Amino acid sequence: MNRRELLQLGALGTVGASLGARRASAQPPQRAGAHVRRYTPLGRTGMKISDVSFGASMLGANQGDLVRQAFDLGINYFDSAESYVGGASETAIGAALSGKRDRVYLTSKTWARPTDRRDSIMAALEASLRRLRTDYVDVYFNHAVNDVARLQNQEWHEFVARAKQQGKIRFAGMSGHAGRLIECLDHALDSGRVDVILVAYNFGQDPGLYQRFKDQFSRNLDLIAQQPDLPRVLAKAKAKGVGVVAMKTLMGARLNDMRPFERGGATFAQAAFRWVLSDKNVDALIVSMTGREQIDEYLGASGSRAAVSEDLPLLRRYAAMNGAAYCRPGCGECLAACPLGVPIDEVLRARMYAVDYGRPDIARSEYALLGDAASPCLRCAARPCQAACPHGVPIDRLTAATHRLLTRV
Ligand code: SF4
Ligand code: SF4
Repeated sequence: MNRRELLQLGALGTVGASLGARRASAQPPQRAGAHVRRYTPLGRTGMKISDVSFGASMLGANQGDLVRQAFDLGINYFDSAESYVGGASETAIGAALSGKRDRVYLTSKTWARPTDRRDSIMAALEASLRRLRTDYVDVYFNHAVNDVARLQNQEWHEFVARAKQQGKIRFAGMSGHAGRLIECLDHALDSGRVDVILVAYNFGQDPGLYQRFKDQFSRNLDLIAQQPDLPRVLAKAKAKGVGVVAMKTLMGARLNDMRPFERGGATFAQAAFRWVLSDKNVDALIVSMTGREQIDEYLGASGSRAAVSEDLPLLRRYAAMNGAAYCRPGCGECLAACPLGVPIDEVLRARMYAVDYGRPDIARSEYALLGDAASPCLRCAARPCQAACPHGVPIDRLTAATHRLLTRV
């Protein structure tokens, strides 16, 4: 048994929340008449939020109708960030929900660096409040945290204390989905300084699903990232009363790939959501909502606390089709292979917005935040990262191509 198999075995032994272990009911829910069917306490915050909530990472300035539709169907938690669509996302939410502030929860985020000062962070918050047309946000996140130093910045904590005292934010959080995710989450939770975490979490991180692949094909199909510490961290958050919101729940969201295989009213997206919501340590999920029918489809999973029998084949098929091109959130196993320190997982996350989500604008802004980090790949002849991904992601081909794609003028 090699180290990988040993780790996988350890994961299977310690993680009880796998799909295989989750209860499956017989019938998929119907899609007609979609609306929010469950409101869930968000940790100790006192907020009760829609279990399937609105992610606004792709929301354009003229898409307020989507926000209003979501509100009309019962969604009460709207997640945005200063960087989403260059601030247009916040602007759209602010306009669409004007006059409804007392019935919704609004969040925003800023990318606070280790050296940022509290005054500049406060200026970022105040700009978000203006765009959102509100005096306060319910949760303000340090965005896409990938370095503990960003959580150790005393200026961030002084900003949080002051903003809370001034009534501009009610709760503070961290969001994370790439390298050093577990380390950052552990630090945030142990420090007692976060009220909510927003974390990438999907069925591709399920050891139980992985095991079923192995059983079915009798060989080591390494399609699924093993992340045995993530369930531990989510359980810790639950025990501490920290709210847990899941994102990136669709493992790349290549929804059209799956349409030919959807049966019995269950869609791939609903199956993926049911997997996440069946974890009792997850309070709710957010998902980018980009169309009216899509909102109806997504809300078909609201109220679920268990998978249905149609879900597993869909999730397995999706993993088989996309596993070799998907960079797993929070993995980071390849990072040491790059002598030039390219944040491979962050670069591939930016690529995902362009290639999987069809949003090159978002991909470009996310990549710009990384400081064009994959530019060394253009001159890297040896390419030691070539076989560094145990999941088969062709890193060296993708990083250089991503840099060209997202910096092309
Ligand atoms: S490329 Fe592979 S090894 Fe590297 S972070 Fe992504 S999934 Fe992990
Ligand atoms: S191609 Fe070279 S510089 Fe780029 S990630 Fe791989 S090893 Fe690092």
